[in-house]
Amino acid sequence: YQGLAGRSTNQVLQLYAARGQQMKLQRSSVVTQLHGAIKKRLKQDLKSLRSFALELSKDFKRQSKACLYQVLATLHGIQLQNEAMRMFQIKAFDLEQCLQEVTERYEKEKQKRKALHNSLVELRGNIRVHCRIRPLLPFDDASGHSVSQDRQGNFSEKVAYAADDETVFVKCSRPGHASVSKNFQFERVYNDLESQDAVFADVAPLLTSLLDGYNVCIMAYGQTGSGKTYTMLGPQLEGNLAFSIEEESELGIIPRATQEVFRLISEKPPGSYWVEVSVVEVYNNEIFDLLAKDSYGKVFGVKRDVVTTREGKSDVPLLTHETVGNSSEFLHLVNKGLQLRVTHPTLVHAHSSRSHLVVTLTITTVVFGDNFGTLWEDEQTSQRLNKEASCTFPQKMRDNKSTSSSRASSPVQLEAAEKMKQIKTRLQLVDLAGSECVGMSGVTGAALREASFINRSLSALADVLGAIAEQRAHVPYRNSKLTHLLQDSIGGDAKLLVMLCISPGQKYFTESMQSLGFGTRARQVQRGQVKKKNFPVLSKGK
Ligand code: ADP
Ligand code: MG
Repeated sequence: YQGLAGRSTNQVLQLYAARGQQMKLQRSSVVTQLHGAIKKRLKQDLKSLRSFALELSKDFKRQSKACLYQVLATLHGIQLQNEAMRMFQIKAFDLEQCLQEVTERYEKEKQKRKALHNSLVELRGNIRVHCRIRPLLPFDDASGHSVSQDRQGNFSEKVAYAADDETVFVKCSRPGHASVSKNFQFERVYNDLESQDAVFADVAPLLTSLLDGYNVCIMAYGQTGSGKTYTMLGPQLEGNLAFSIEEESELGIIPRATQEVFRLISEKPPGSYWVEVSVVEVYNNEIFDLLAKDSYGKVFGVKRDVVTTREGKSDVPLLTHETVGNSSEFLHLVNKGLQLRVTHPTLVHAHSSRSHLVVTLTITTVVFGDNFGTLWEDEQTSQRLNKEASCTFPQKMRDNKSTSSSRASSPVQLEAAEKMKQIKTRLQLVDLAGSECVGMSGVTGAALREASFINRSLSALADVLGAIAEQRAHVPYRNSKLTHLLQDSIGGDAKLLVMLCISPGQKYFTESMQSLGFGTRARQVQRGQVKKKNFPVLSKGK
């Protein structure tokens, strides 16, 4: 402002304008400079941004390429795996089919082998032995051995198994004993799950044999509690020696066999067959007729004897044979006989396993004709019957309910009887007493007597089989009433099936081994071919 002093207003204004101009110029050059700097900076930033973006997109491309490659590789892997899986599936399917074919072939071969084995058994007259292993049951645990049980392990532990349908496998290791691991082969082995149906399915063909003219005997062997009565009759009724008839699926061999016999008969010409039953108990080496009646018609057990006839056959004179027309008649009759085992004073024994039970079905076939003379095995009976003419027709027998009555006959009846011939075949069903070796120490009186009779009769049975196996001239049938009674069946007059019954628990190891040993020896017995009774061919005129 000092410079302005003394100047005119115009000059001042000019000065101001020049000054303003100058400042303006200065300002615009700063702006320009700033602008340039900003622009430069922006350019730089844009450049780096662009290169960053470029880098980013390159990276992205690289990465997505890598990812794509990975995806493709994975996809390829999956495809390969799928392919492999498909190949495996095809292979598995092929193998499955192969296996099925092999199984089918194996089953066929097995059937063939069984059939051949069966024929061999028939030719040699072998005794068939089947073995049934019952399930473990609650009472297997209640051992009464509680002290030693802890030391010896669990008594209810299983030691006997069905390895397959022909093999029993026994495996047992007890402290202080050598461990046992052994196989036993039989014609058929039933595991603990196999039903009464399955057991009977293998028995049924024998009944066809029966109607074809063969005698048949089925015998259950095993220690007490191993399932003999269950297998032969069915589950027993509470506190009773009879068995439940109502539970059809639980019925054992005896009732089922009877049903089957009547079914088979129903397919034959009517009136040509009839069936008689006898029920016998062998207790303390005495034979009791469980169907004998007193004069009031009440059933009571009567002691009988067994004799050898002139033909060398065993026979029980005066034994009651009741004629039955169907299986339910039979069942009621047998159940009545069984109930007698508890009530009869001479037969008082707490447990049914203390006696042998023999139920016999005799099937008589009546044939009419003139020239069958040489075909009859039972010629003598036939002639006697012809003379007595007591049963011209089976129905009359049935009405009469007795075999030993005779009545007056008309000439016409006699003539008919002349032309009538009969053949008898026999089905013996045996529930043996318990095979356990009863310790004699500490047992006295009746129990001692009972035990020693059972032991003796069962060892007599083993001796008889031993004598036949060794083809000895003398077979000691008469050493016991049991073997004497069953002489014909054991000796080779019948197709014989022994049904071994086994308790699987460790507690019963010794008894099971004894039974399996008995079965193995029985299987080796060769008796020569069982004879068939010759039937003339009958027309099915039904
Ligand atoms: P045993 O006549 O040999 O002395 P039981 O037939 O009386 O033996 O059987 C003893 C117990 O075991 C019975 O209670 C019976 O019902 C049962 N039992 C036996 N075998 C079987 C089985 N296969 N399935 C189910 N229970 C069975
Ligand atoms: Mg029994």
